[in-house]
Amino acid sequence: MSQESGLIDGFGRRVTYVRMSVTDRCDFRCVYCMSEEMTFLPKSEVLSLEEIAVLARNLVACGVTKIRLTGGEPLVRPGIVSLVKSIRQLPGLHELCMTTNGGRLQDLAEPLRAAGLDRLNISLDSLDADRFRELTRTGRLGQVLTGIEAARKAGFERTKLNAVILRGRNDDEVLPLVEYALANNLDLSFIEEMPLGVITEHDRAETYVSSADLRQLIRGRYSLEAVADDTGGPSRYYRIPGHNIRIGFISPHSHNFCGDCNRVRVTTEGRLLLCLGNEHSMDLRAVLREGDQASAAVDKRVQSALHESMALKPEKHHFDLGEEPQVLRFMSATGG
Ligand code: SAM
Ligand code: SF4
Repeated sequence: MSQESGLIDGFGRRVTYVRMSVTDRCDFRCVYCMSEEMTFLPKSEVLSLEEIAVLARNLVACGVTKIRLTGGEPLVRPGIVSLVKSIRQLPGLHELCMTTNGGRLQDLAEPLRAAGLDRLNISLDSLDADRFRELTRTGRLGQVLTGIEAARKAGFERTKLNAVILRGRNDDEVLPLVEYALANNLDLSFIEEMPLGVITEHDRAETYVSSADLRQLIRGRYSLEAVADDTGGPSRYYRIPGHNIRIGFISPHSHNFCGDCNRVRVTTEGRLLLCLGNEHSMDLRAVLREGDQASAAVDKRVQSALHESMALKPEKHHFDLGEEPQVLRFMSATGG
Protein backbone atom coordinates (compact mmCIF):
# COMPACT_ATOMS: atom_id res chain seq x y z
CA MET A 1 0.00 0.00 0.00
CA SER A 2 1.64 3.22 -1.05
CA GLN A 3 1.20 6.30 1.14
CA GLU A 4 -0.45 8.13 -1.78
CA SER A 5 -3.23 5.56 -2.06
CA GLY A 6 -4.28 6.01 1.59
CA LEU A 7 -7.47 7.75 2.71
CA ILE A 8 -6.79 11.48 2.74
CA ASP A 9 -9.56 14.01 3.25
CA GLY A 10 -10.09 17.44 1.72
CA PHE A 11 -8.10 19.08 4.54
CA GLY A 12 -5.06 16.85 4.07
CA ARG A 13 -5.78 14.66 7.10
CA ARG A 14 -4.94 10.99 6.69
CA VAL A 15 -7.48 8.52 8.08
CA THR A 16 -5.67 5.65 9.79
CA TYR A 17 -8.01 4.86 12.69
CA VAL A 18 -11.53 3.45 12.46
CA ARG A 19 -14.00 2.72 15.22
CA MET A 20 -16.50 0.08 14.20
CA SER A 21 -19.76 -0.42 16.07
CA VAL A 22 -20.52 -4.13 15.99
CA THR A 23 -23.95 -3.87 17.62
CA ASP A 24 -26.35 -1.18 18.85
CA ARG A 25 -27.53 -3.50 21.63
CA CYS A 26 -26.28 -3.40 25.19
CA ASP A 27 -26.87 -5.09 28.52
CA PHE A 28 -26.52 -1.71 30.35
CA ARG A 29 -28.62 1.45 29.92
CA CYS A 30 -26.21 4.20 31.00
CA VAL A 31 -28.13 7.41 31.69
CA TYR A 32 -25.98 9.58 29.41
CA CYS A 33 -26.03 7.07 26.56
CA MET A 34 -29.43 5.40 26.30
CA SER A 35 -32.99 5.96 27.35
CA GLU A 36 -34.58 3.39 29.65
CA GLU A 37 -36.72 1.95 26.88
CA MET A 38 -34.72 1.50 23.72
CA THR A 39 -35.85 0.32 20.31
CA PHE A 40 -32.97 -1.45 18.67
CA LEU A 41 -32.39 -1.86 14.96
CA PRO A 42 -34.03 -4.76 13.13
CA LYS A 43 -31.44 -7.49 12.48
CA SER A 44 -31.69 -7.03 8.69
CA GLU A 45 -30.38 -3.47 9.05
CA VAL A 46 -27.38 -4.49 11.12
CA LEU A 47 -24.21 -5.52 9.32
CA SER A 48 -23.50 -9.24 9.54
CA LEU A 49 -20.19 -10.35 11.03
CA GLU A 50 -19.05 -11.27 7.51
CA GLU A 51 -19.90 -7.77 6.26
CA ILE A 52 -18.01 -6.18 9.15
CA ALA A 53 -15.00 -8.37 8.31
CA VAL A 54 -15.18 -7.33 4.62
CA LEU A 55 -15.27 -3.65 5.60
CA ALA A 56 -12.33 -4.14 7.95
CA ARG A 57 -10.34 -5.90 5.22
CA ASN A 58 -10.90 -3.02 2.81
CA LEU A 59 -10.24 -0.31 5.37
CA VAL A 60 -6.89 -1.93 6.15
CA ALA A 61 -6.19 -2.30 2.43
CA CYS A 62 -6.72 1.49 2.20
CA GLY A 63 -4.12 2.23 4.88
CA VAL A 64 -6.06 1.99 8.14
CA THR A 65 -3.67 0.70 10.82
CA LYS A 66 -5.83 0.78 13.93
CA ILE A 67 -9.35 -0.53 14.46
CA ARG A 68 -11.42 -0.26 17.62
CA LEU A 69 -14.49 -2.47 18.00
CA THR A 70 -17.22 -0.85 20.02
CA GLY A 71 -20.99 -0.51 20.16
CA GLY A 72 -23.43 -0.70 21.94
CA GLU A 73 -21.72 -3.40 23.89
CA PRO A 74 -19.44 -5.43 21.61
CA LEU A 75 -19.41 -8.38 24.01
CA VAL A 76 -23.15 -8.99 23.60
CA ARG A 77 -22.69 -9.68 19.89
CA PRO A 78 -22.61 -13.44 19.31
CA GLY A 79 -19.48 -14.42 17.35
CA ILE A 80 -17.41 -11.46 18.58
CA VAL A 81 -14.38 -13.64 19.39
CA SER A 82 -14.20 -15.07 15.86
CA LEU A 83 -14.64 -11.58 14.41
CA VAL A 84 -11.66 -10.40 16.47
CA LYS A 85 -9.64 -13.35 15.26
CA SER A 86 -10.40 -12.72 11.58
CA ILE A 87 -9.74 -8.96 11.75
CA ARG A 88 -6.51 -9.40 13.72
CA GLN A 89 -5.06 -11.52 10.94
CA LEU A 90 -5.28 -8.70 8.37
CA PRO A 91 -1.80 -7.82 7.16
CA GLY A 92 -1.06 -4.13 7.76
CA LEU A 93 -3.23 -3.76 10.86
CA HIS A 94 -1.04 -2.60 13.75
CA GLU A 95 -3.57 -2.58 16.54
CA LEU A 96 -7.00 -4.02 17.26
CA CYS A 97 -8.70 -2.62 20.36
CA MET A 98 -12.10 -2.81 21.98
CA THR A 99 -14.20 -0.52 24.16
CA THR A 100 -16.45 -2.47 26.51
CA ASN A 101 -18.53 -2.01 29.62
CA GLY A 102 -16.58 -4.93 31.09
CA GLY A 103 -19.67 -6.81 32.26
CA ARG A 104 -18.80 -9.97 30.32
CA LEU A 105 -15.02 -9.90 30.52
CA GLN A 106 -14.97 -12.47 33.27
CA ASP A 107 -15.78 -15.10 30.63
CA LEU A 108 -14.46 -13.41 27.50
CA ALA A 109 -11.14 -11.75 28.43
CA GLU A 110 -9.12 -14.90 27.86
CA PRO A 111 -10.70 -15.96 24.53
CA LEU A 112 -10.39 -12.36 23.27
CA ARG A 113 -6.72 -12.24 24.18
CA ALA A 114 -6.16 -15.63 22.53
CA ALA A 115 -7.93 -14.33 19.40
CA GLY A 116 -5.36 -11.53 19.23
CA LEU A 117 -7.17 -8.51 20.66
CA ASP A 118 -4.42 -6.07 21.61
CA ARG A 119 -6.00 -3.68 24.04
CA LEU A 120 -9.10 -2.89 26.06
CA ASN A 121 -10.86 0.28 27.18
CA ILE A 122 -13.29 -0.43 29.98
CA SER A 123 -15.97 2.02 31.09
CA LEU A 124 -16.22 2.66 34.81
CA ASP A 125 -18.11 5.70 36.11
CA SER A 126 -18.40 4.82 39.78
CA LEU A 127 -16.81 2.64 42.46
CA ASP A 128 -19.93 2.69 44.60
CA ALA A 129 -22.23 -0.26 43.87
CA ASP A 130 -25.50 1.66 44.32
CA ARG A 131 -24.28 4.64 42.33
CA PHE A 132 -23.00 2.33 39.60
CA ARG A 133 -26.44 0.77 39.41
CA GLU A 134 -28.11 4.19 39.15
CA LEU A 135 -25.81 5.36 36.37
CA THR A 136 -25.94 2.16 34.31
CA ARG A 137 -29.52 1.29 35.34
CA THR A 138 -28.84 -2.46 34.86
CA GLY A 139 -25.11 -2.93 35.48
CA ARG A 140 -23.44 -4.54 38.48
CA LEU A 141 -20.20 -3.02 39.74
CA GLY A 142 -18.83 -6.32 41.11
CA GLN A 143 -19.13 -7.93 37.72
CA VAL A 144 -17.15 -5.13 36.04
CA LEU A 145 -14.41 -5.14 38.70
CA THR A 146 -14.10 -8.92 38.25
CA GLY A 147 -13.93 -8.31 34.49
CA ILE A 148 -11.09 -5.80 34.92
CA GLU A 149 -9.17 -8.36 36.97
CA ALA A 150 -9.90 -11.06 34.36
CA ALA A 151 -8.43 -8.78 31.67
CA ARG A 152 -5.24 -8.38 33.68
CA LYS A 153 -4.97 -12.14 34.24
CA ALA A 154 -5.54 -12.78 30.53
CA GLY A 155 -2.45 -10.67 29.81
CA PHE A 156 -4.00 -7.42 28.57
CA GLU A 157 -1.64 -4.51 29.11
CA ARG A 158 -2.18 -0.75 29.01
CA THR A 159 -5.89 -1.22 29.72
CA LYS A 160 -7.64 2.11 30.01
CA LEU A 161 -10.66 3.03 32.09
CA ASN A 162 -13.16 5.54 30.69
CA ALA A 163 -15.30 7.59 33.05
CA VAL A 164 -18.02 10.05 32.05
CA ILE A 165 -18.35 12.59 34.84
CA LEU A 166 -21.69 14.32 35.47
CA ARG A 167 -21.99 17.19 37.94
CA GLY A 168 -24.12 16.20 40.91
CA ARG A 169 -24.17 12.53 39.96
CA ASN A 170 -20.60 11.24 40.14
CA ASP A 171 -18.26 14.23 40.31
CA ASP A 172 -17.33 13.11 43.83
CA GLU A 173 -15.93 9.88 42.31
CA VAL A 174 -13.10 11.58 40.46
CA LEU A 175 -10.45 11.13 43.18
CA PRO A 176 -11.55 7.57 44.09
CA LEU A 177 -11.30 6.65 40.39
CA VAL A 178 -7.79 8.13 40.19
CA GLU A 179 -6.81 6.15 43.30
CA TYR A 180 -8.26 2.95 41.85
CA ALA A 181 -6.39 3.51 38.57
CA LEU A 182 -3.13 4.14 40.44
CA ALA A 183 -3.57 1.08 42.67
CA ASN A 184 -4.32 -1.17 39.68
CA ASN A 185 -1.85 0.37 37.25
CA LEU A 186 -4.55 1.32 34.74
CA ASP A 187 -4.74 4.37 32.50
CA LEU A 188 -7.82 6.49 33.07
CA SER A 189 -9.66 8.94 30.81
CA PHE A 190 -12.34 11.35 31.90
CA ILE A 191 -14.86 12.06 29.15
CA GLU A 192 -17.03 15.15 28.93
CA GLU A 193 -20.61 14.20 28.17
CA MET A 194 -21.47 14.69 24.52
CA PRO A 195 -24.90 15.77 23.27
CA LEU A 196 -25.62 12.61 21.31
CA GLY A 197 -29.24 11.50 21.26
CA VAL A 198 -32.15 12.81 23.32
CA ILE A 199 -31.96 11.55 26.91
CA THR A 200 -34.51 12.20 29.61
CA GLU A 201 -32.91 11.85 33.03
CA HIS A 202 -30.85 14.99 33.26
CA ASP A 203 -30.25 18.32 31.61
CA ARG A 204 -26.84 18.14 29.99
CA ALA A 205 -26.14 21.83 30.42
CA GLU A 206 -26.52 21.36 34.21
CA THR A 207 -24.48 18.17 34.55
CA TYR A 208 -21.63 19.39 32.36
CA VAL A 209 -18.22 19.43 34.05
CA SER A 210 -15.27 20.67 32.05
CA SER A 211 -11.96 18.82 31.88
CA ALA A 212 -10.33 21.94 33.32
CA ASP A 213 -12.54 21.65 36.43
CA LEU A 214 -11.59 17.98 36.77
CA ARG A 215 -7.89 18.75 36.52
CA GLN A 216 -8.24 21.42 39.18
CA LEU A 217 -9.98 18.93 41.45
CA ILE A 218 -7.27 16.29 40.92
CA ARG A 219 -4.54 18.88 41.46
CA GLY A 220 -5.91 19.36 44.97
CA ARG A 221 -4.33 15.99 45.78
CA TYR A 222 -1.83 15.10 43.02
CA SER A 223 0.42 17.03 40.71
CA LEU A 224 -0.33 16.54 37.04
CA GLU A 225 2.30 16.87 34.32
CA ALA A 226 1.17 17.19 30.72
CA VAL A 227 2.63 14.56 28.37
CA ALA A 228 3.00 14.82 24.61
CA ASP A 229 -0.02 13.38 22.88
CA ASP A 230 0.25 11.75 19.50
CA THR A 231 -3.11 10.02 19.26
CA GLY A 232 -4.58 12.55 16.83
CA GLY A 233 -7.64 12.50 19.02
CA PRO A 234 -9.59 14.52 21.52
CA SER A 235 -7.58 13.31 24.54
CA ARG A 236 -4.97 15.30 26.38
CA TYR A 237 -2.80 13.20 28.66
CA TYR A 238 -1.11 13.86 31.99
CA ARG A 239 1.07 11.89 34.38
CA ILE A 240 1.32 11.92 38.13
CA PRO A 241 5.04 12.06 38.97
CA GLY A 242 6.27 8.75 40.39
CA HIS A 243 3.53 6.72 38.68
CA ASN A 244 3.34 4.98 35.31
CA ILE A 245 -0.27 5.55 34.39
CA ARG A 246 -1.64 8.25 32.11
CA ILE A 247 -4.66 10.31 32.97
CA GLY A 248 -6.54 11.57 29.92
CA PHE A 249 -9.19 14.22 29.48
CA ILE A 250 -11.48 13.95 26.48
CA SER A 251 -13.02 17.33 25.85
CA PRO A 252 -15.20 17.69 22.79
CA HIS A 253 -16.63 20.96 24.11
CA SER A 254 -13.75 22.76 25.66
CA HIS A 255 -10.99 21.62 23.33
CA ASN A 256 -11.33 21.62 19.59
CA PHE A 257 -9.54 18.47 18.50
CA CYS A 258 -10.69 18.43 14.90
CA GLY A 259 -7.52 19.83 13.32
CA ASP A 260 -5.54 16.61 13.68
CA CYS A 261 -8.46 14.17 13.43
CA ASN A 262 -7.32 10.88 11.91
CA ARG A 263 -10.46 8.85 12.54
CA VAL A 264 -13.81 7.85 11.12
CA ARG A 265 -16.55 5.56 12.42
CA VAL A 266 -18.63 2.77 10.98
CA THR A 267 -22.09 2.53 12.53
CA THR A 268 -23.92 -0.69 13.29
CA GLU A 269 -25.86 -0.21 10.04
CA GLY A 270 -22.70 0.23 8.00
CA ARG A 271 -22.81 3.98 7.63
CA LEU A 272 -19.34 5.45 7.41
CA LEU A 273 -19.51 8.51 9.64
CA LEU A 274 -16.90 11.03 8.78
CA CYS A 275 -17.29 13.04 12.00
CA LEU A 276 -18.88 12.23 15.36
CA GLY A 277 -20.57 15.61 15.59
CA ASN A 278 -21.96 15.81 12.06
CA GLU A 279 -24.23 13.73 9.90
CA HIS A 280 -21.88 13.52 6.91
CA SER A 281 -21.83 9.87 6.00
CA MET A 282 -21.70 7.22 3.32
CA ASP A 283 -23.92 4.14 3.19
CA LEU A 284 -21.39 1.32 2.96
CA ARG A 285 -24.07 -1.31 3.60
CA ALA A 286 -25.67 -0.43 0.28
CA VAL A 287 -22.26 -0.64 -1.37
CA LEU A 288 -21.73 -4.09 0.18
CA ARG A 289 -25.16 -5.50 -0.59
CA GLU A 290 -25.87 -4.18 -4.07
CA GLY A 291 -24.30 -5.62 -7.21
CA ASP A 292 -21.85 -8.42 -7.96
CA GLN A 293 -21.13 -10.35 -4.76
CA ALA A 294 -17.83 -11.89 -5.94
CA SER A 295 -15.27 -10.83 -3.37
CA ALA A 296 -13.01 -9.02 -5.86
CA ALA A 297 -15.99 -6.97 -7.10
CA VAL A 298 -17.12 -6.14 -3.55
CA ASP A 299 -13.57 -5.10 -2.55
CA LYS A 300 -13.29 -2.82 -5.57
CA ARG A 301 -16.64 -1.15 -4.87
CA VAL A 302 -15.93 -0.69 -1.16
CA GLN A 303 -12.46 0.77 -1.71
CA SER A 304 -13.68 3.20 -4.30
CA ALA A 305 -16.53 4.28 -1.94
CA LEU A 306 -14.03 4.77 0.88
CA HIS A 307 -11.85 7.03 -1.27
CA GLU A 308 -14.90 8.94 -2.49
CA SER A 309 -16.14 9.46 1.09
CA MET A 310 -13.02 11.41 2.02
CA ALA A 311 -14.42 14.46 0.24
CA LEU A 312 -17.31 14.41 2.75
CA LYS A 313 -15.23 14.67 5.94
CA PRO A 314 -16.11 18.03 7.46
CA GLU A 315 -13.48 20.33 8.87
CA LYS A 316 -14.88 20.28 12.41
CA HIS A 317 -17.79 19.38 14.66
CA HIS A 318 -20.31 21.76 16.18
CA PHE A 319 -21.42 20.65 19.64
CA ASP A 320 -23.51 23.09 21.62
CA LEU A 321 -24.99 22.21 25.00
CA GLY A 322 -27.44 25.09 25.03
CA GLU A 323 -29.51 23.79 22.15
CA GLU A 324 -31.41 20.62 21.34
CA PRO A 325 -28.97 17.96 20.18
CA GLN A 326 -28.27 18.54 16.53
CA VAL A 327 -27.07 14.97 16.36
CA LEU A 328 -29.96 12.69 17.20
CA ARG A 329 -28.00 9.46 16.97
CA PHE A 330 -27.29 7.71 20.24
CA MET A 331 -23.66 7.06 21.01
CA SER A 332 -24.51 3.36 21.18
CA ALA A 333 -25.46 3.16 17.51
CA THR A 334 -22.60 5.40 16.48
CA GLY A 335 -19.70 3.57 18.00
CA GLY A 336 -18.32 5.64 20.84
N1 SAM B 1 -20.53 -0.30 25.71
C1 SAM B 1 -19.16 0.04 25.64
C2 SAM B 1 -18.75 0.94 26.79
O1 SAM B 1 -19.63 1.44 27.49
O2 SAM B 1 -17.56 1.10 26.97
C3 SAM B 1 -18.76 0.66 24.33
C4 SAM B 1 -19.69 1.67 23.73
S1 SAM B 1 -19.89 3.16 24.64
C5 SAM B 1 -21.00 4.05 23.60
C6 SAM B 1 -18.30 3.92 24.42
C7 SAM B 1 -17.98 5.04 25.34
O3 SAM B 1 -18.84 6.12 25.07
C8 SAM B 1 -18.14 4.70 26.81
O4 SAM B 1 -16.94 4.99 27.49
C9 SAM B 1 -19.25 5.62 27.26
O5 SAM B 1 -19.05 6.03 28.57
C10 SAM B 1 -19.15 6.75 26.28
N2 SAM B 1 -20.40 7.51 26.07
C11 SAM B 1 -21.63 7.06 25.81
N3 SAM B 1 -22.52 8.08 25.66
C12 SAM B 1 -21.80 9.21 25.84
C13 SAM B 1 -22.12 10.61 25.80
N4 SAM B 1 -23.35 11.05 25.56
N5 SAM B 1 -21.11 11.47 26.03
C14 SAM B 1 -19.84 11.06 26.28
N6 SAM B 1 -19.49 9.77 26.32
C15 SAM B 1 -20.45 8.86 26.10
FE1 SF4 C 1 -24.12 0.41 26.94
FE2 SF4 C 1 -21.73 1.50 26.70
FE3 SF4 C 1 -23.93 2.96 26.23
FE4 SF4 C 1 -23.39 2.22 28.69
S1 SF4 C 1 -22.13 3.57 27.42
S2 SF4 C 1 -25.39 2.03 27.66
S3 SF4 C 1 -22.47 0.27 28.42
S4 SF4 C 1 -23.23 1.24 25.06
